[in-house]
Amino acid sequence: MSIAKKRLDPFCDPKKIGEQAYYESKYTYAIYDLFPVVKGHTLIVPKRHVSGIAELTDAEAVDLVMTIKRVVPKLLKIYRADDSYNIVAQIGPYSGRTVNHLHIHIIPRNKYDMYSEYNDKLYKDLRKYELDGIAMHAVAPEIERLRKIFKYKERE
Ligand SMILES: [Zn+2]
Repeated sequence: MSIAKKRLDPFCDPKKIGEQAYYESKYTYAIYDLFPVVKGHTLIVPKRHVSGIAELTDAEAVDLVMTIKRVVPKLLKIYRADDSYNIVAQIGPYSGRTVNHLHIHIIPRNKYDMYSEYNDKLYKDLRKYELDGIAMHAVAPEIERLRKIFKYKERE
């Protein structure tokens, strides 16, 4: 394996993106988080490898925000999120990020979720869940469900 391949992060890896994606636009994917803190936890990921927002072209930045605009209302409906969600991005080496490829967390919320009384715990758990992890098979049914709703076909 070459050094370049070893450095492939999960969001540059077509196989991993292929497993998790449920929506895509010209420059952006919406993928299901492998370590969801709540059901519906989604990542908005630019297709091109960038570390931060400033590196996006104008067209990519518009496309990324348009993807959020298209995905969020459906997520809120599907996960009964009472018009509530968190948008979180960890950018830069001191932000707590685990993957150096820009990704924006969309976390549907409602008054019955486990963070409703302790909102700050959500940010701790974002990292904890990534470190503890759960298996792909645990989130696969949710990805399938969203693919049907978004009429997304996995690429071969
Ligand atoms: Zn990347």
